Amino acid sequence: MSTLQNIVIIGGGLAGAKTAEALREKGYDGAVTLIAAEDHLPYERPPMSKDYLVGKATFDDALVHPADWYQEHDITVRQGARATAIDTAEHRVTLDDGSQLPYDKLVLATGATARHLPIEGADAAGVFYLRTVEDADAIHGTFGEGKSLVLIGGGWIGLEVAAAARATGTNVTVLEGAKLPLQRVLGDEIAQVFADLHTSHGVDLRTEVQVAEIVTEGGRATGVRLAGGEVVPADAVVIGIGVAPVTDIAEDAGIAVDNGVLVDASLRSSDPDVFAVGDIANHQHPILGRRVRVEHWATALNQPAAAVAALLGEENTYTELPYFYSDQYDLGSEYIGNAIPGSYERVIVRGDLAAREFVAFWVDHERRIQAAMSVNVWDVIDQIKPLIAAGTSVDPDKLADPGVPYAEL
Ligand code: NAP
Repeated sequence: MSTLQNIVIIGGGLAGAKTAEALREKGYDGAVTLIAAEDHLPYERPPMSKDYLVGKATFDDALVHPADWYQEHDITVRQGARATAIDTAEHRVTLDDGSQLPYDKLVLATGATARHLPIEGADAAGVFYLRTVEDADAIHGTFGEGKSLVLIGGGWIGLEVAAAARATGTNVTVLEGAKLPLQRVLGDEIAQVFADLHTSHGVDLRTEVQVAEIVTEGGRATGVRLAGGEVVPADAVVIGIGVAPVTDIAEDAGIAVDNGVLVDASLRSSDPDVFAVGDIANHQHPILGRRVRVEHWATALNQPAAAVAALLGEENTYTELPYFYSDQYDLGSEYIGNAIPGSYERVIVRGDLAAREFVAFWVDHERRIQAAMSVNVWDVIDQIKPLIAAGTSVDPDKLADPGVPYAEL
């Protein structure tokens, strides 16, 4: 079909695997090489902080595709290989073993790395970050009745690991700098729901605290010292204070980078033969009308098909709204849209906050829905999505009324 012969994908996570899949689905029959720094086939990360972490799912369950799928689709996976340089003029990628791969088109799916906490003791034994399956295994090994785990950061990692650890009877303390966990993403009212959820499950949630040092004994973490001097005892510490997109290789190659790789609506970078998908893509979103970089599973899942369509020459843009889900204890939630602080005026709740069964809407001053989160309410996201995408003003009273069907809004 096309004259393309070599497509290289850098990044062996979900976004990389989905790119390979989309190429074959769209009938591209040239060579596909997937460079995966981790010594595994591509796997999904959500289970690493949920079912896999508790021991309820296996690693095979998390694989994007089984090994024979890559053979059947003639996709070369270079496991444990790292791309070290891109030569955009020569259309060549260099790997850490010195080998070079030519490309006609290149897709960057390098993901993100955990932000490190620059304090004394952060590199001691018993201190973990959660990104890979090895990290999940190590953290799982610290769980157990009577053991104490301290989580630094009350974001998605902190809270999901807290729920997983509590499920095994582990004593959990969460240390968060802000007034509430998830406050920046959800705002006070909905963040409070998550705070109450965790305290009601026995988590010692400490907010507005600054972490000063990880206390060690014989090179092993034994606690976390707060700025006030108090030491919270710990058998293990997990740090989840956000991630940074892996963009150095793109930047070194002269590709435009600013909080991720800058891509247009079609996910094409400043170099017409290079695309970026997933955590690293700072995407000019055609519906939101602004740039957005989303560090969630659904973006890695859905962007590749759009990038591949554009890469193969179709007129195509990526229009999916940001989406993610989170499971914590008996609370299941889904979030659609993108409400950033300052972009919304108020939060409208349909349902019962106290019973943790509701849909929350982040609404701007023109009564347009920026984002919505369903909590223990199912099958509503697809009905809400068109309301956000259309950008129409809604009646707040009707929005808050569970008796009014979404189609009527
Ligand atoms: P995150 O969700 O961005 O949360 C980081 C949290 O740490 C924030 O609450 C932040 O507070 C806090 N923090 C930052 N510096 C701190 C410090 N020095 N001391 C104490 N707290 C501090 O990041 P994450 O939890 O590390 O997760 C990593 C990535 O994985 C994120 O991109 C996340 O979206 C993704 N993830 C997603 C899911 C899901 O979709 N269900 C699950 C797990 C992970 P401020 O906001 O006030 O800075």
